[in-house]
Amino acid sequence: MRILFLGAPGAGKGTQCKKLAKKCGLTHLSSGDILRDAVKNGTKAGVAAKEFMDKGQLVPDNVLIDLFREKLSAPDCAKGFILDGFPRNSAQGHSLDQLLSEINANLDVVIDLETPDEILEERITGRRVCPNKACNEVFHVKYSPPKVDGICDACGTALVHRSDDKAELVKQRLSVYHELTKPLVDFYQAKSLLHKVDGTGEQDDIFAAILKTLKVPC
Ligand code: AMP
Repeated sequence: MRILFLGAPGAGKGTQCKKLAKKCGLTHLSSGDILRDAVKNGTKAGVAAKEFMDKGQLVPDNVLIDLFREKLSAPDCAKGFILDGFPRNSAQGHSLDQLLSEINANLDVVIDLETPDEILEERITGRRVCPNKACNEVFHVKYSPPKVDGICDACGTALVHRSDDKAELVKQRLSVYHELTKPLVDFYQAKSLLHKVDGTGEQDDIFAAILKTLKVPC
C-alpha cells in the first residue's frame, strides 16, 4: 500500500504514520526527519536546507525531489510506503506524480488530518522529541509527558525541543502551510484519493479512524 498524509505541522502526522508503518509493515518517509538527518550529517542537501528550516520556510523543491527520488527507488519502498511531509506545495505534488511514474507506482490513498490552528500551536510548542534516530519518539509536556522529565521513555535519550517548534516560528510555519500546502487537498480531491480524518481527540481514536479509511486493510 502507498499512502500519503497531509496535515499542518502539529496535526499528528508523524505519530500516526509511525503507528501505521509498524502495523502495516510499510516504510515511513518523513521529509522533516530526512532533512534534519541531512542537516546533522552535513550533506549537500542538509547544507542547502538548513537556512530555510531555521526560518520556518520551505526548503527549495529540487532538494526534496532529489532526496525523494533516491528514497522511493530504494528496495525498502517496494513493500509499500507512507509519505509524511512531502509533497508540501503544488509543484512538489506534480513532481511526486513524476517520481511515482518513474517507479511505476500510484498512491492508493491520501489522508488529510484536519486540526484547528489553536490546537496546533499548543501541540507544537509543547512537543518534545527524542533525537535518537532509531527511536524518534514524540512526547508533549502536557498531553503525553515522559515518565521522567526530559528523558525518552523508549530509549533513555535526553529529549529536545526542536528549534523550529518554538513559539516565534510556529505562526510562520502555519502560514506557510495554509498558503502553500493546503492547496494539495484540492489537488488530491480532484484525483479522488482524498479522505479527511478529524485530527483532534485521543491518538488511539484518530488511529482507529485512519484504519477505517484505508480501502485495503493491512
Ligand atoms: P516537519 O518536521 O515536517 O515540520 O518539517 C520541518 C521543516 O523541514 C519545515 O518547516 C521545512 O523547512 C522543511 N520541510 C519539510 N518537508 C518539506 C517539503 N516537502 N518541502 C520543503 N521543505 C520541507
